[in-house]
Amino acid sequence: MPQGMIVKALSGYYYVKPAASQAEAQGGYVQCRGRGIFKKRGITPLVGDEVLYTPTENGEGTVDEILPRETELIRPPIANARQAVLLFSVREPDMNLQLLDKFLVHIEHAGLKPLICLTKEDLLLEDQDEENTESLAQIKQLYEDIGYTVIVTSSLTGTGTEEVMRHLAGEISVFAGQSGVGKSSLLNRMLGLSLETSEISLKLGRGRHTTRHVELIELENGGYVADTPGFSQLDYLELGVEELSQCFREFVKYAENCKFRGCSHLHEPGCKVRAAAELGQIAASRYEHYVQFQDEMKEKKRRY
Ligand code: GDP
Ligand code: ZN
Repeated sequence: MPQGMIVKALSGYYYVKPAASQAEAQGGYVQCRGRGIFKKRGITPLVGDEVLYTPTENGEGTVDEILPRETELIRPPIANARQAVLLFSVREPDMNLQLLDKFLVHIEHAGLKPLICLTKEDLLLEDQDEENTESLAQIKQLYEDIGYTVIVTSSLTGTGTEEVMRHLAGEISVFAGQSGVGKSSLLNRMLGLSLETSEISLKLGRGRHTTRHVELIELENGGYVADTPGFSQLDYLELGVEELSQCFREFVKYAENCKFRGCSHLHEPGCKVRAAAELGQIAASRYEHYVQFQDEMKEKKRRY
C-alpha cells in the first residue's frame, strides 16, 4: 500500500503527497477520503499524518491507515510537527514578553521545539534609537540564556531569513504569533514569492471563512510550514500547576531542590525557584509571568 503525508485537509478531503519513492500523482497529490471506519472509531486524520492509502479507480484514493504520530496538536490540528516558530515584532505591534512566555508554555507543553523570531528589526534601526536596539539585544540574550534559539529578522531587508530557513529544513513547523507580527511576510520572503500579503494570505489559507482549512506549505529544503492563526488561542485547562512550572524550563533545576514536593513556587518556605528569581538567576519577567499564569489558571478553573 502506498505511503504518503497529508498536506492539506479541506471539505472532507485529505490531500496526500506520496512518499518520494512512489508513483507520481496528478498535480503531486492524491485526493483521498478517509476510510469509513475512522468515523465510527472517532479517528480523524490530521494534516502532517503519515498514512497508507489505496488509490481508487477515479484517480482519487482512500486513507486506510494512520501511522503512529510523533506529536499531535489540537489547535491547529496538525500531526508530527516538531517545531514552533514564534514570531514577535519589535514594533507594530510592540514586543509583549508576557505573551511570548505564554506561547512558550504552550509550545513546551505540546513537546515542540521553539524557535523565537524577533521580527521587523528594520523598524528599530530606522529611528536609530539606541535604547531600543539595546533592549532588543537584552531580550535576545534573556531567551538565549534559557536555551532557546533566537533569530532577529526583517522581511524588508532580509536579515535573518536564511537562518530561519535553515532551521525549517526537513521538518514540519508551525508558525505562531499575533496577527500583524509579520508571519506572511517572512514566509513570503522565504518562499521567494512576490505576491501581495493579501494574496499570500489567500494562498496560506487565511480569509477563507467558509471551510476549516489546514495546509502545509512545502519549502525547497524539504521543510513544511503551517501558518495557522489558531495557535494563538491558548488554553490552560489541561495544564496542572506542576506542569506549568515545568514549561518554564529554566525553573526545573531549581525546583528539584525546593523544600516541598509539588511546590507551587509561590509562597512556600524553602522554595528555590523564588530564591533564584530574587537573586536574578531567573529573570524577573519570567518569574512574574509564571505567577500571573498561575493566577489565570486558578481563575479559569474556578469558572469552569
Ligand atoms: P501576519 O499577520 O503576522 O501574517 O503579518 P503580515 O506579514 O501580514 O505583516 C503585517 C504588516 O507588517 C504588513 O503591513 C507588513 O508589510 C508589515 N511587515 C511585515 N514584516 C515586516 C518587516 O520585517 N519590516 C517592516 N517594516 N514591516 C513589516
Ligand atoms: Zn518552589
